[in-house]
Amino acid sequence: MSSLFPALTDGHPADRPALRFGERELTYGQLAAAAGAVAGNLKGTRRAAVWATPTLETAVAVTAALLAGPAVVPLNPKSGEKELGHILSDSTPDLVLTAPGTPLPAALAGLPRLDVDPAARAAPGTLPDDRDRDPEEPALIVYTSGTTGPPKGAVIPRRAVATTLDALADAWQWTGDDVLVHGLPLFHVHGLVLGTLGPLRRGGSVRHLGRFTTEGVARELNGGATMLFGVPTMYHRVAEALPAEPDLAEALAGARLLVSGSAALPVHDHERIGAATGRRVVERYGMTETLMNTSVRADGEARPGTVGVPLPGVELRLVEEDGSPVASYDGETVGEIQVRGPNLFTGYLGRPDATAAAFTADGWFRTGDMAVRDPDGYVRIVGRKATDLIKSGGYKIGAGEIENALLEHPGVREAAVTGEPDADLGERIVAWVVPADPQSPPGLEELAGHVAGRLAPHKRPRVLHHLDALPRNDMGKIMKRALSHG
Ligand code: ATP
Ligand code: MG
Repeated sequence: MSSLFPALTDGHPADRPALRFGERELTYGQLAAAAGAVAGNLKGTRRAAVWATPTLETAVAVTAALLAGPAVVPLNPKSGEKELGHILSDSTPDLVLTAPGTPLPAALAGLPRLDVDPAARAAPGTLPDDRDRDPEEPALIVYTSGTTGPPKGAVIPRRAVATTLDALADAWQWTGDDVLVHGLPLFHVHGLVLGTLGPLRRGGSVRHLGRFTTEGVARELNGGATMLFGVPTMYHRVAEALPAEPDLAEALAGARLLVSGSAALPVHDHERIGAATGRRVVERYGMTETLMNTSVRADGEARPGTVGVPLPGVELRLVEEDGSPVASYDGETVGEIQVRGPNLFTGYLGRPDATAAAFTADGWFRTGDMAVRDPDGYVRIVGRKATDLIKSGGYKIGAGEIENALLEHPGVREAAVTGEPDADLGERIVAWVVPADPQSPPGLEELAGHVAGRLAPHKRPRVLHHLDALPRNDMGKIMKRALSHG
């Protein structure tokens, strides 16, 4: 296999910009020297935890480890002691890489600590060469977001990282000339693999905002950046800010590519951004276990509510509950998404049973996500099998379309939909709404009428709860477990 980072190992122009976090920057030459210095201390290391703050140190640490050999275990610095303890005992890293002076929690006290210095300058040629390494070797052990249960450690081989990034480059016409604006955390696939390793693999550059702000997005896109990767909560903030921030509209209009993923982008936000900027947000769909599965292509139609088509090399099918493929891609028949291809992980760390349960006998991965497919291949995600599919009155109803309909009501700022047991219907539809104006929240009758008028009467909510905010995790995903358990 070729190097994960040809731009570093094959002698890319050394003065080309690679990483910028806040005010601090590294060129490819400086990154090679700093990563070489870290790599010198990683010999014989099997697994390296990285205290994944959104900093230059994290990006250097991960690059060095991927070239030197140990599998990287990114740690969420906001994890509680309990979750951290679980991840550490599960993944048993040999050491932890971190920025100098960063206080680490007690759970990490037993691990040797290696401070990363982005200003270090190892002698040229000391950067390890990863070209002859086995593509099946684990590159990363990334913990899932914990949306539906305790996070699971997905073992991601080098092959999956390389193939998913190359498939995205094809779909997005992503080159070394692209400059990415990044405001995501670095301990999940989105911010780490796509947002950090992606630009480095292409020989392009990353500008990390540290903390996401719409002002930061406008400044960077108006200052030469070409792409933005974000989660739907960020695009929601963009949609809300657009009317009052003319330079934001100008920045988005001038960007080459705006990409959303990690959760469904509400149609209402998609359309507001489109109307204000003339630009369409490209949605892609992936998971920790599979990296990226589908995307709207840069030259394709960005249809609101869809996640595009399978990426090159990815096989995708929809199956019925008995495992047989759905009869037709008619835009209406719902099935579970299964995927197969070189983008897949090798298994959950230390959980052979969970791994076996996740695959069919012939190697398809069961995503747990439900979708329909349009006749031309576009995939529309309906929701997760576990939390978003409501069986009511003999119908299977996806929470997503009801959420989208609720969000189009002017009185609704945020919305989530769940099901709860009902003697008559099997399950009844429950709406959890953050009102736009807490002084005059829309009532059940009003919202039920609104949904029934847009979708169908059987899709109207029967119960309404008003909330100050929806429970979300650090990727902005709605934690439906927390909702239905009160
Ligand atoms: P856990 O597996 O621990 O419950 P998680 O599934 O949220 O958490 P991730 O691997 O980070 O952990 O997220 C993958 C999931 O995110 C997908 O299975 C899908 O449900 C959702 N997702 C990702 N991108 C999109 C998208 N564009 N539209 C809708 N859902 C998406
Ligand atoms: Mg999952």
